[in-house]
Amino acid sequence: IQSKLPQVGTTIFTLMSALAAEKKAVNLGQGFPDFECDPALIAAVNNAMQSGLNQYPLMTGAPALRDAISRKIATLYGHHYHPQNEITVTAGATQALLTAIHCCIRPGDEVIVIEPAFDSYLPAIALAGGTAVCVQMELGDNGYIVPWFKVAAAVTGKTRLIMINSPHNPTGSVLLPADMQALADIVRGSDILLLSDEVYEHMVYDGIPHESVSRHPELAARTFVVSSFGKTYHVTGWKIGYVAAPAALTAEFRKVHQYNVFSVNTPMQHAIAQYMADPTPYLNLPKFYQRKRDLFRDGLKNTRFRLLPADGTYFQCVDYRAISDLPENDFAQWLTAEIGVAAIPVSAFYENGKDAGIIRFCFAKKDETLHTALERLNKL
Ligand code: PMP
Ligand code: GLN
Repeated sequence: IQSKLPQVGTTIFTLMSALAAEKKAVNLGQGFPDFECDPALIAAVNNAMQSGLNQYPLMTGAPALRDAISRKIATLYGHHYHPQNEITVTAGATQALLTAIHCCIRPGDEVIVIEPAFDSYLPAIALAGGTAVCVQMELGDNGYIVPWFKVAAAVTGKTRLIMINSPHNPTGSVLLPADMQALADIVRGSDILLLSDEVYEHMVYDGIPHESVSRHPELAARTFVVSSFGKTYHVTGWKIGYVAAPAALTAEFRKVHQYNVFSVNTPMQHAIAQYMADPTPYLNLPKFYQRKRDLFRDGLKNTRFRLLPADGTYFQCVDYRAISDLPENDFAQWLTAEIGVAAIPVSAFYENGKDAGIIRFCFAKKDETLHTALERLNKL
C-alpha cells in the first residue's frame, strides 16, 4: 500500500510512555493525570448506564450536554452558541480537529499552523490534501510568543484556515487580548476561517483570564472552537469534547462528523451534562494546577534546568543545555532510561524537528509522583 502519510511513525507520546514503562521511569511525558477524577462523575456515568441510556444519542450530541456547554460558554465568555445548531459533541478534541479540517480544506488549500504544534494537526491537514504553512513561535525572555507579522506574511490567496492553540501545548504560553487583535487584523476582509484549539481553557494561571476566541464576536464569526472534557475533568481516556461554531460552519462540520464517528458514547454525555450543572470543578482548576506547577517549578530551582514560563496547560518546558549537548530526542531517552523521569522532546512538535535543547514535563500528577521525579531530577 502506498502510504498517505509517509512521514508519520508512531507518536512521540506512545513511544515515550512505552519507554517509561519499560524503564520503570516516572512518566512526566505523555500528558495525562495519574490521579482519579471526581467519584461523583463516575457515579453519574453508572447512573446513566443503569437508567438505560445506552443506545445511540443524537448525531449532534445529547441535547442536555449541548445545553450545558452553551450555558458554560455564555457565562464564561459572553457568547451565545445555539445548542441546536452551533454546538456538536465530539469524540475528543482530536476528532473535532480532524473533522473541522476535513469540512473546509480541499486539495491545494493552505493552512497556517503555528509551531510548535500539537502532533495531530499536520497529518490531519495532509489527509485532507491541504498544505500546512508553518510559522514558528519565538522564544524570548517572556517565553514563547506568536510573531503575528510572520503570520500575516504567510497569508496567500490559497490560505483557507489559520489554526491557533491557547493555552498552548507544549509551551504553556497563552494568547492575550493583543494577540486576538493582531489576528483580527490579519483575517479582516478575507474569507479565512479559524480553528481554535482551547482544550486547556480551564488551566490558566496567575489570575490571567483565558482569552477564548468566543470572547471576540468578529473572530468567533469565522471560528471552530474546540475543547475537551478529557482535560477539564481528568478523564483523558473518555475521549469526549466539543466544537462550537456559527451555524453555517457547524452545518458543514456535521456533514463530515456524521460519517466519521456519527455520534459519541451516550452515558458519558449524560453524566457530563449533569456534572456541568456545578461550575465549581472547572472554576477550581486554575488553583488546583497552579499549586502543582509551583511545586514542580520550586523543586527544579536548584537544578541546572532553565525553567521557561508556564502560564497555562499542565506542561512545564525546560532548557537543558547547561546539563547536556545531546539532541532533544536523545536527551529525553537518556533522562528516561538513566535518571528515571520521562519527558517529551519539544522538537517532536515541529514539522522538520528543531533542536533547541528544550523538553516538556507534564505536572498533572499526584504530589508524590512529582516529589519522586524531583528527587531524581535534582541528582543531575
Ligand atoms: N489538542 C491539544 C493541544 C492537546 O494537547 C490534546 C491532548 N493531547 C488534544 C488536542 C486532543 O485532545 P483529546 O484527547 O480530547 O482528543
Ligand atoms: N495531549 C497529550 C500530550 O500532549 C497526548 C495525547 C496523545 O497521546 N495523543 O501529551
